[in-house]
Amino acid sequence: MNSFTYTSATAVDTAVRDKSTNSKSAFVAGGTNLLDLMKENVEKPTHLIGLNKLPLTAIEDNPEGGLRLGALATNADTAWHPEVEKRYPLLSQTILAGATAQLRNMATNGGNLLQRTRCYYFYDTSTPCNKREPGSGCSALQGYNRIHAILGTSPQCIATHPSDMAVALAALEATVRVSGPHGERTIAFDDFHRLPGDQPERDNTLETGELITALDMPAKGFEKNFTYLKLRDRTSYAFAVVSVAVGLELEGNTIKEARIALGGVAHKPWRDMAVEETLRGQSATEDNFRQAATAIMHNAQGYGYNNFKIELGKRAIVRALKQATEMDQPLDANAYLNSNP
Ligand SMILES: Cc1cc2nc3c(=O)[nH]c(=O)nc-3n(C[C@H](O)[C@H](O)[C@H](O)COP(=O)(O)OP(=O)(O)OC[C@H]3O[C@@H](n4cnc5c(N)ncnc54)[C@H](O)[C@@H]3O)c2cc1C
Ligand code: SF4
Repeated sequence: MNSFTYTSATAVDTAVRDKSTNSKSAFVAGGTNLLDLMKENVEKPTHLIGLNKLPLTAIEDNPEGGLRLGALATNADTAWHPEVEKRYPLLSQTILAGATAQLRNMATNGGNLLQRTRCYYFYDTSTPCNKREPGSGCSALQGYNRIHAILGTSPQCIATHPSDMAVALAALEATVRVSGPHGERTIAFDDFHRLPGDQPERDNTLETGELITALDMPAKGFEKNFTYLKLRDRTSYAFAVVSVAVGLELEGNTIKEARIALGGVAHKPWRDMAVEETLRGQSATEDNFRQAATAIMHNAQGYGYNNFKIELGKRAIVRALKQATEMDQPLDANAYLNSNP
């Protein structure tokens, strides 16, 4: 690890100023991703700005409706918050499917969205990687690409975004609140993470010096019919191979609204709003779900070792939609805790 200086920020504006004036600085929250990247020499900030003393841990009613989740609230405090469990059980379920209890106690909401890809070559500094070193090449294209993307890829990068939480936030259409050198702004969740294009080094649309302060949840939480289906190699300490977050609004067996977001398949949580729209007014049947799944995967492309994700993704979408349709029990959060040690 390289040497670095550290300050603990106590106000948002000083944290933003500190970051904006030092191009080699980095914010650190729970540290569960950044410190690993520093130990592996993937990221080499010379100055760290600690965020944990900032007053950004509250989870409270949003004056504009919905709920506001502080960027520094931990994943555990967010998932177990009674209002999140009641109004956004999809989010609780999704967070609890991620990492482990110990990690969720440290990981913060802001940090979770900004965790970096788990592409093996990104971590291995002896191999070319356009995301780590722009212009050096992509080792995954012809390499071992079992965990890589099948949708929205570019010849520059086929990495996936690893966050579970972000998949639920995409389905729920959260808004990211940020504070930066030019003031505050909000970013619609779909615009927050990027596809790789010809700038795979940029994971998101944050500008230099911007700090995430909160996530705003809209009033609608799909609390009656929802599911997060995470398919992974182990039930703990494992990222999604493919995951699906579903929120449904049903009237009898008729779909009034459907949200479907996928994880593990693209550089950002993947939604196909045109397909969601085709489900509106249709019956919640397996046939209709299968047609939707086929349409979502229509442009999917495998790179060899990850070809299986196309069929797996289709099956996962159908299963998640069925689970969300058939559920009639409120979330038993303890069940998720027990199945996600
Ligand atoms: C073994 C292991 C297993 C894991 N499994 C999963 C899993 O299954 N699913 C999953 O989703 N995740 C998983 N994770 C990842 C984990 O969820 C993330 O590491 C964590 O959420 C990051 O949050 P943090 O607060 O620790 O971020 P940090 O490591 O502190 O920061 C991460 C990045 O975010 C930036 N940052 C942090 N906060 C802010 C802010 N408010 N504004 C602007 N920038 C900010 C930092 O500068 C840094 O670039 C796993 C991690 C490990 C180590
Ligand atoms: S997929 Fe992206 S992160 Fe992985 S080696 Fe290629 S450029 Fe790097």
